[in-house]
Amino acid sequence: MGDFRVFVFDLDFTIWNAGDTFCSETCPPYKWNKEGKLVDAEGRWIRLYPDVREILKKLKEHEYIIAAASRTHEPAWANDLLQLFDIDKYFTIKEIYAGEKETHILNILKKTNCSIHDLVFFDDEQRNIETVKALGVTTVHVQDGLNICTKYIEHLFKA
Ligand SMILES: [Mg+2]
Repeated sequence: MGDFRVFVFDLDFTIWNAGDTFCSETCPPYKWNKEGKLVDAEGRWIRLYPDVREILKKLKEHEYIIAAASRTHEPAWANDLLQLFDIDKYFTIKEIYAGEKETHILNILKKTNCSIHDLVFFDDEQRNIETVKALGVTTVHVQDGLNICTKYIEHLFKA
């Protein structure tokens, strides 16, 4: 445990909550409102889960490779959100397009020159977990968003 080199994250409902829906169902453009909340054109509040920034920062400090693996049908919108939240800078690799997560993971392996044992994958959807687990990758089923108590993340926050 802790021997991973690459941390791979799903986006919708893992990194952020796009107004209780998928970011592909939102209505750009997005903007920061007066209360400092990121909203879409219909007023949906799109928020990062509270610990996400801290987690990404910590992973970067420890020189892990951070990758995004999202099956969204609206990659440009997901990329906008990564920029607006100012977390794009943490992701060395972004595999953001519709399809099976197997493809995303295999591309990440290719780009990082890593083996399946170097990867740990986080996603809120059981079907993605099953797909990626079948490749032999360690997976974590995220509930209520990524947080500092999430398996394989928690050790980063222990003294
Ligand atoms: Mg998801």
